[in-house]
Amino acid sequence: MSAMPDYARTLFLHPPSFEGFDGGAGSRYQARREVRSFWYPTWLAQPAALVPGSRLVDAPPAGLTLDDVLPLARDYDLAVLHTSAPSFAHDVRVAEALREVNPSLRVGFVGAHVAVAREAALRASAAIDFVAGAEFDFTIQEVAQGHPLDRVAGLSYRVNGRLDRTPERAVLEDMDRLPFVVDVYERDLEVERYFIGYLLHPYVSLYTGRGCRSKCTFCLWPQTVGGHRYRTRSVEHVVAEIAHATKLFPQVKEYFFDDDTFTDDLPRAEAIARGLGRLGVTWSCNAKADVPYATLKVLKDNGLRLLLVGYESGSQAILNNIKKGLRIDRAREFTRNARALGIKIHGTFIMGLPGETRETIEETVRFALDIDPDTIQVSLAAPYPGTALHREARERGWLQDNDLVDAGGVQTSVLGYPHLSRTEIFGSLEQFYRRFYFRPRKIFAIGGEMLRDPAVLRRRLSEGAQFLKFLGRRRRLGGDAVPTPPKPRTAPAEP
Ligand code: SF4
Repeated sequence: MSAMPDYARTLFLHPPSFEGFDGGAGSRYQARREVRSFWYPTWLAQPAALVPGSRLVDAPPAGLTLDDVLPLARDYDLAVLHTSAPSFAHDVRVAEALREVNPSLRVGFVGAHVAVAREAALRASAAIDFVAGAEFDFTIQEVAQGHPLDRVAGLSYRVNGRLDRTPERAVLEDMDRLPFVVDVYERDLEVERYFIGYLLHPYVSLYTGRGCRSKCTFCLWPQTVGGHRYRTRSVEHVVAEIAHATKLFPQVKEYFFDDDTFTDDLPRAEAIARGLGRLGVTWSCNAKADVPYATLKVLKDNGLRLLLVGYESGSQAILNNIKKGLRIDRAREFTRNARALGIKIHGTFIMGLPGETRETIEETVRFALDIDPDTIQVSLAAPYPGTALHREARERGWLQDNDLVDAGGVQTSVLGYPHLSRTEIFGSLEQFYRRFYFRPRKIFAIGGEMLRDPAVLRRRLSEGAQFLKFLGRRRRLGGDAVPTPPKPRTAPAEP
């Protein structure tokens, strides 16, 4: 019988940064949202599940400050911090403070932002001992097991004052090797602290696969950590985790599959749906706006409540520019079908993508009003390092600032074009929201939902107040597209 290896006492930390910052290891586009919302730190929960005795601390949802997390440094040998482009400077300061409290603490950084510029991240601070590459689950497990860093694939590290790196880690093909994350959620997180406005509360989200077949130029994860093949867990593995979760969390009202595009493999999506149907759970997922009616029907008949759909733009030219691989007429048909089946849609849109003009902004707003998703989210184009959009923006001189969020963690407008300023793009976001939500049809729909359920009433009133505050803040900043935050240390640049 082989002995269980000793593991370093390991802390997985989503550090405190901006108040209410939804930027953990499960947030694609890290920012403080219009209404308080948090994704689960799933990318950290996966290695945490591989390291016995570890602890996952997700500071922003838990309301933890730097003073709250610093004492933890004394209790651990290894701290793994998940970072992001907007929060990198903050996260470095947290690493330095942890190291001051415990000088022998080994500190590693993970996340898409540093995976694409590992040495640059190491150079940012001597407090960072190593940076892991794209898929870091087993990399971190081996570090926690005490393997010498020069024998752990997929690492850049500091040795005797210089930087070195090991060969890349092979892409994970057998996704069933990843253990369930719900046990870590149950052990270390409080599910009631996780809110997403359009999901029932409490909800639980996890991944059933990694990667997306599409090649949207702005999209962070497939271009940095997931790749363009949809690598999936088996149907049985996924259904077993949800069955297990229903026992751990009887209070959970909805499960969300946060794969980049859960519908990339339609037969598998249908098979998972049938398994979930047998469990009788309510669930939702990310989808591209091209799922055929027959599949939508199978999903709906087996508990699907909502689809999160990235429409991005109502302009076919812009969809082509960003390589969305989607036709507007197909998106319209998909939306009609979903509505006919009673599937709710949260549609996401982006202002300021390449090719944006005043006319395409109008086209997109009209498109959204026309297809009328139940709820929408409007973002500003965000060129993350490691994406084709970032490269294109740099080459063509569109990138007018590097800071993706302001001093409060709220998204800023960083792309500007000769014919369309970033101030104008910034202003279009508020206009979009106002024209979509301040319509009698939407107000009645939301009001009706609130009247039917007192819990929804309380939640929507709170969210409504936050949303109006958000719009008010935008309006105050309107003339100044990007209130420049302090820049204590620059984030890693793309290699
Ligand atoms: S389809 Fe969605 S997840 Fe896939 S690359 Fe495009 S934006 Fe990203």
